[in-house]
Amino acid sequence: MRPETAAVLGPVLRDWDSSGIGYRVQEDWAPSPYDPPCGPRSAAAVAVVWTADGCGTGVLTGAPGEPVTAQMVLAAADALHDAVVEGRLLGTTTWPPCPLHPGTHPLTPRLHEPDREQSRHPGRDLHPHPGPDRVRHPDPDVVWACARTGQAVCRVGELGSVPAERAPG
Ligand SMILES: [Zn+2]
Repeated sequence: MRPETAAVLGPVLRDWDSSGIGYRVQEDWAPSPYDPPCGPRSAAAVAVVWTADGCGTGVLTGAPGEPVTAQMVLAAADALHDAVVEGRLLGTTTWPPCPLHPGTHPLTPRLHEPDREQSRHPGRDLHPHPGPDRVRHPDPDVVWACARTGQAVCRVGELGSVPAERAPG
């Protein structure tokens, strides 16, 4: 696996590993038709994650040397989360289980931006930070969060360290 592919897919595939989901990763290229004949090529690298049900999920993984962003990790986690839920790869639509509301809904991946978590008015926080201020903030993490409350449960890739859902009764 290329380092870019591993960086984009690694976190969510770690969670697949800890949940016992089998898969095979196929790397591919999708050359951009808009590239000039000379000069840098902007071919997009694609990885397809094949699962036991015969379905493949395509994920953009970035060209060699291209910085891997949290948004790319989020897009990969989102696509592969959909593959598990919609394909019922684990026989359930509640993967990963929400520890706050067991049995009702899955966790969903989202960006976790530490500087914004403390805001009491997240809806108003969409204004871009001023340039110098933004530099001080760390890159956002990608987390599994409760779809109902938005509460972050753990980082994507660290599901294995979250206590298992307790069976009711
Ligand atoms: Zn929940």
